[in-house]
Amino acid sequence: MHVPPIPSLSSADPQLAELIHAEAARQHDSLRMIASENYVSQAVLEATGTVLTNKYSEGYAGRRYYEGQQVVDQVETLAVDRAKALFGAAHANVQPYSGSPANLAVYLAFLAPGDTVMGMALPMGGHLTHGWSVSATGRWFRPVQYSVARATGLVDFDEVRDLARRERPKVIFCGGTAIPRTIDFAAFAEVAREVGAVLVADIAHIAGLVAGGAHPSPVGHADVITTTTHKTLRGPRGAMILTTEECAKPIDKAVFPGLQGGPHNHTTAGIAVALHEAAQPAFREYAAQVVANARALAAELTGRGFDLVSGGTDNHLVLVDLTSKQIGGKPAAQALDRAGIELNYNTVPYDTRKPFDPSGIRLGTAALTTRGLTPADMPQVAAWMDEAVTAALKDDEPTLGRIAGEVRDLLSRHPMPGYAA
Ligand SMILES: *Cc1c(COP(=O)(O)O)cnc(C)c1O
Repeated sequence: MHVPPIPSLSSADPQLAELIHAEAARQHDSLRMIASENYVSQAVLEATGTVLTNKYSEGYAGRRYYEGQQVVDQVETLAVDRAKALFGAAHANVQPYSGSPANLAVYLAFLAPGDTVMGMALPMGGHLTHGWSVSATGRWFRPVQYSVARATGLVDFDEVRDLARRERPKVIFCGGTAIPRTIDFAAFAEVAREVGAVLVADIAHIAGLVAGGAHPSPVGHADVITTTTHKTLRGPRGAMILTTEECAKPIDKAVFPGLQGGPHNHTTAGIAVALHEAAQPAFREYAAQVVANARALAAELTGRGFDLVSGGTDNHLVLVDLTSKQIGGKPAAQALDRAGIELNYNTVPYDTRKPFDPSGIRLGTAALTTRGLTPADMPQVAAWMDEAVTAALKDDEPTLGRIAGEVRDLLSRHPMPGYAA
């Protein structure tokens, strides 16, 4: 029997293949400092691009609604076992399509519409899905939101406790998207226990640091842990929910059949690979290096007159208030992008500017650490950022172009997984 060769993407769809190549080149040539992004390994890329995408498998291993699960059950079980072992959790669900649906599953498991949920306000560093007003979680439930202290940029546990005692939330979220400091899971657990709330630690940003021992673990403090798999954990786009034994059933039921249909098995495979990688000794070094790079960069930026929210960082993330540099976050981020430095504009706590043109920028070191940059590179990175922000104020495009060339030059010495020039 003659089986024709499967055409590769570039012959089957040259137009799309060209776009992917262009994106690979862009990722190769720019200093990617969006705090939620990373580069996955060649192995993770390969696992996600497989025939597992062809398979439907609603349900859980051994309890499926479709036949033909001989292999997929093993793939999912491997991912689940690796997640439990890596984080030391009693139970893991690896099916959520992404971080936002993972959090929605928590609401479905523990709240009825109109019930009270407590989370950090979005402009303070919390996530949309922690009850922010425009999110379904803020519209279908009753959100109460805590802040950070104006003077320190840190969570004020007196405020958290007072709010929880007064409002009696059924669920409390800790964690967020723009938190540069260590999350005190034990302190949140104490408040949650006092008011009888389910504590959810959303470690989407820091999961890789937790896995690599560079941030304390919420296991033993939080009842439920939600996380994306694609940020510091360096897996494919997806999510996981880790729980105690007691919370396992309500969470599993909420993910399927409560919220989702068939799991994305190719993603599950990529998650399994990423969890295997994160269990290696080299990943502990990676996590430590991510934090060392962020600390070094924070110190260099401070030395150049940048004002950092909370005064620095404990993790992979730095939040910069640009007010002292007389430039808004958006024009700064756009100029930095033209200089080959990719990050995002972001509100800072108590921002006086509008959310679509806020005072800050947010940056992270997860991706550049994967490329092999070290603290010795951070003085140069800070110098480029300083120069680019100054150039933006003067509409000095030639300087931005020159920096982009220098960035490209540095990165040409640091290979990128999945990219061949
Ligand atoms: C990124 C993030 C999410 C959402 O993840 P998506 O995959 O983008 O839906 C949820 N919570 C926190 C804290 C995050 O940082």
